[in-house]
Amino acid sequence: MTAPVTCIRRAAWAVAWDAARGSHVYLRDADIAFAGNTIFHVGGRWDGAAAREVDGSALLVIPGLLNIHCHPAQSPIFRGFVEEFGNPRLFYSARHRFRQAFIPDVEAQRASARFGLAELLAGGVTTVVDLSHAYPGWLDLLAESGIRAVAAPMFRSAAWFTETGQETQYEWAPDLGEAAFVEAAAVMDAAERHPSGRLSAMVSPAQVDTCTPELLQRSAALARETGRPLHTHAAQSYAEFAGMTRRHDMTPIAWLHRLGFLGPHTILGHAVFTDEHPWLVWPERADLHLLAASGTAVAHCPTVFLRDGTLLHDLGTYMEAGIPIAIGTDTHPQNLLEEMRVAELLARAAAGPRHRCDTARVFHAATIAAAGVLGRPDLGRIAPGSRADLVCCALDHPAMQPLRDPLRNLVHVAAERAVRDVWVDGRQVVAEGTVLTLDQPQAARTLQAQQERLAAAVALRDPAGADIEALSPLALPLAR
Ligand SMILES: [Zn+2]
Repeated sequence: MTAPVTCIRRAAWAVAWDAARGSHVYLRDADIAFAGNTIFHVGGRWDGAAAREVDGSALLVIPGLLNIHCHPAQSPIFRGFVEEFGNPRLFYSARHRFRQAFIPDVEAQRASARFGLAELLAGGVTTVVDLSHAYPGWLDLLAESGIRAVAAPMFRSAAWFTETGQETQYEWAPDLGEAAFVEAAAVMDAAERHPSGRLSAMVSPAQVDTCTPELLQRSAALARETGRPLHTHAAQSYAEFAGMTRRHDMTPIAWLHRLGFLGPHTILGHAVFTDEHPWLVWPERADLHLLAASGTAVAHCPTVFLRDGTLLHDLGTYMEAGIPIAIGTDTHPQNLLEEMRVAELLARAAAGPRHRCDTARVFHAATIAAAGVLGRPDLGRIAPGSRADLVCCALDHPAMQPLRDPLRNLVHVAAERAVRDVWVDGRQVVAEGTVLTLDQPQAARTLQAQQERLAAAVALRDPAGADIEALSPLALPLAR
C-alpha cells in the first residue's frame, strides 16, 4: 500500500455497513483505517503503522452524509427574510413581492454558495447535490470547498410570476429553455471533466410546470445517454397540482410517467402533493404506485414545507410503498442532521399512531438510499472498499450526554454541534469543528455585505417602491 494511511483508533462507537444484513450496525471499540481515498479496515484492531492516528476513545464515527437536494447559491442569503413571509394565496410560494424584488445576482450567489458549502461541511455533509442556475466560477468553488458535489444546473422553458397574487402565471420562452439546456449540458460535461475528480452531474429541468414536454423528454433522453441521474421539482405545491391537473387532466406524477420521465435514476423534489395528500380531491390514488413501480426516488426536504404550513403525508407510507427516499435541505439552515430529525418527527405527526418512521430509517435515507439514488454504492457507508468520506462526532459534547444511544443523541439532540472532524475522499476538510478548505468567518462577512446590498435595492425594484421593512418586517419592532 503506497498511499498514506490514517487510522481512527478504538472508536468508542462507529456506524458500519453490514451488507449481508442490508443495514447499518453499531460497532464498539473499532479501528477504522483508510489509505488515500479508500477505507480498507473496519472493526477490531488494525496492527499496521499509520501515517496519522486519531484517538477514537471519545468519538462516534459515521459515514459522511449525502444531501440530495440543496440550493447553496440561494438559500443562505435569504436567512432572516423568508421564514415567516410569503403569499398565503399561493401557499407562501416564492411568487410574492419580496422575492420578486430581492434577486441574488452572480456576486450574491457566489457569496451565498461559499458560506453555504462551509455550512454543509461543518454539518457533516460530504456529498451535496447542488441545484443552481449555473454561474461563473461555480464548479471551481465546489472543487475548492473539498466537498463531493453533484452539479445540477437548472434550466426551464418558462419563468413564473404573479400579477394578481392569486395564481401562478408563466412567461413561456421555449427557445430560451432549449438554449439553457445546451448551456447546462456543457456545464455538466465540464463538471465530469473537472480535475478535482469529485464532481459529477445531474440532468435537472427545473420544475414540472415550467418545462415544455419536449424539454422534459430531451432531458430524460440525455440522462439515459450519459448515465446521469435525472431530477425535477414536481408535486411540490397545491397551486402546481391544481394548475397541472387543469393543464393535462392528470396529476404531475402521472404527467411525468406519460412523458417517460420516471425511472430508477429519477429523483423528484418533493412529491408532497401527490394524489395521496389529504387536501387534494382527486378521483384516483395511483401516484405512489407509479413512483414505486418505476423506482423513482423522492428528495424529501420537510423544513421548507413546514414553514409554509404543509407537509408530506406521510413518509412512512412512501417508504412502505417501496419508494426510495433521500433527504435534502431545500432552504436554510442547510443542517442535514436537523432535517433528518424534522423528517422523522413530521412522519410521526402526519401518520399518528400508525407511523412507521424511526432514526434508523432517516439515517438510511441520508446515507445508503441517497447513494443508491446517485448510483454510488461506494458512498454513504463505512465498509472496506468504500470512499473515505467520514464524520467524527464528539461524544464528550454535552449535547451527546448522557450517552446510551449515540445516533439518537446525534439526530434528536446534538445535530451539527457534535460534528468534530470530517474527511471527504480521504482529505480532512473539517478539524475540531473548523472548516479547513474555506474561510467560514470571512465567507460570513462577505455574505452579510451582499445581503445588505440586495436588501437596500428592494425599494428600487418593487413596483410600488415598498422597502424591505414593509415587505419583510423584523420579528420584533425596533425601539426608537
Ligand atoms: Zn429545491
